[in-house]
Amino acid sequence: MRYFSTRNKNEGVSFAAAALTGLAADGGLFVPEEIPSYAGGVKNSLGNMDFCDIALETIKPFVTPEIPEAALEDMVHSAYHFSAPLLGVGDRLVLELFHGPTAAFKDFGARFMARAFSYLRRGEDRPLKILVATSGDTGGAVADGFFGVEGISVTVLYPRGRVSPLQERQIAGLGGNISALEVEGSFDDCQRLVKAALGDESLRKRLTLSSANSINVSRLIPQAVYYAAAAGKAFAGKTDPDGEATPRVKGGKGSNRGGGADYGVRAGQAVTFCVPSGNFGNLTAGLYAMKMGAPIRGFIAATNANKTVPDYLESGSYEARLSQATISNAMDVGAPSNFERMAAHFSWDEMRQIIRGVSVSDAETRETIKAIYRDCGYFLDPHSAVGWNAADKLIKQGLSGKSPGPQGPLAILSTAHPAKFAETVEPITAKVPVPPSLARAMNRKVESRAIPAEVSAFLEVL
Ligand SMILES: *Cc1c(COP(=O)(O)O)cnc(C)c1O
Repeated sequence: MRYFSTRNKNEGVSFAAAALTGLAADGGLFVPEEIPSYAGGVKNSLGNMDFCDIALETIKPFVTPEIPEAALEDMVHSAYHFSAPLLGVGDRLVLELFHGPTAAFKDFGARFMARAFSYLRRGEDRPLKILVATSGDTGGAVADGFFGVEGISVTVLYPRGRVSPLQERQIAGLGGNISALEVEGSFDDCQRLVKAALGDESLRKRLTLSSANSINVSRLIPQAVYYAAAAGKAFAGKTDPDGEATPRVKGGKGSNRGGGADYGVRAGQAVTFCVPSGNFGNLTAGLYAMKMGAPIRGFIAATNANKTVPDYLESGSYEARLSQATISNAMDVGAPSNFERMAAHFSWDEMRQIIRGVSVSDAETRETIKAIYRDCGYFLDPHSAVGWNAADKLIKQGLSGKSPGPQGPLAILSTAHPAKFAETVEPITAKVPVPPSLARAMNRKVESRAIPAEVSAFLEVL
């Protein structure tokens, strides 16, 4: 597959070049020259395939020929030893994406990316430095994915006071080849510093640099896998049983598996995914899965107060703004990077036919966490609660006729484990069971360096 910059459709590069450089030389994002389609045999059997087999079939066309099939197979098996269960909760479905080592969906992208980088750079002498700006969860997932990988070091930039104590430990508690910078500014500042460093000629001469944000295609593509897997399952009329790691209080109404519920699975019906969004990498990956042929009806783009994209979908004019702090901090993005990629593939009209945008306040997010715990015995983290509430709003507006309004199966993506945001969730629910990976992270010591939100300060550190 060839990749082009969103700002220049003339010069194509390989997957290896697109992944390892992260950002195109002209400041654009790499997009595949075309979105491939699943072979008919794969498309029709998604509901019966193993997650790793779906990963193989989904990622393969994007990385051929640089990553041969056998190597890709090894990579997906070592990356994905955890699952993405599709559960019935109350009247709808929840796709739990938090069963990886850092308990957020970003593990899916970061773990594949680390393996792809390691493979693509086999035999290289010059060390690689990866720069990551994080609003919370990316930093931890990337740090965890690359921790101990030889020949690669990672520098994570995070906004001071805007990440949770646990997130900070996941980012700044590993040490070794991972270093952490606490930036006196917002996530947008962190992102700006990374972009500036990646574009700095003199720095590029001294260091081999790359980024690991969702602007990197090697993180984006593997995120299409869980959409295809979940859509296939729902289309086959199946959900998963509640797992051991699923934080649910026994006996809640949520023991309803979605079978007879309004927005539960129905065999032969395509699913609508509601995606709690910030930088819009996750939603872009969903669009890829849909284009590849997974049975997806459309998307709800759920945001917190940072509603740049919902406003764009409404008005047709895109206006990036400063980010606002909310309780769903991993989505505090006023200038979502991946929008440029969405716009490279789809016009405003096309987007409006498949995506509906909804913004949710902190108060509504809290109410939803409380209500779903009360009614279903199920813990939602603040990000997933934004998704749940956004879907509620569309349901209340009675938009069932409009595509992609809530009609037929509706799956909320649960992007983080609620224990990751215990300081918000527990005061309005009850004690959230902590998965072992998070318990271990909580015991780490934070080691980070504070810098002002200035490019010169960042360049000096590098
Ligand atoms: C990163 C993140 C999001 C937002 O995902 P994008 O791909 O940036 O839109 C939502 N929820 C959680 C928990 C996250 O970590």
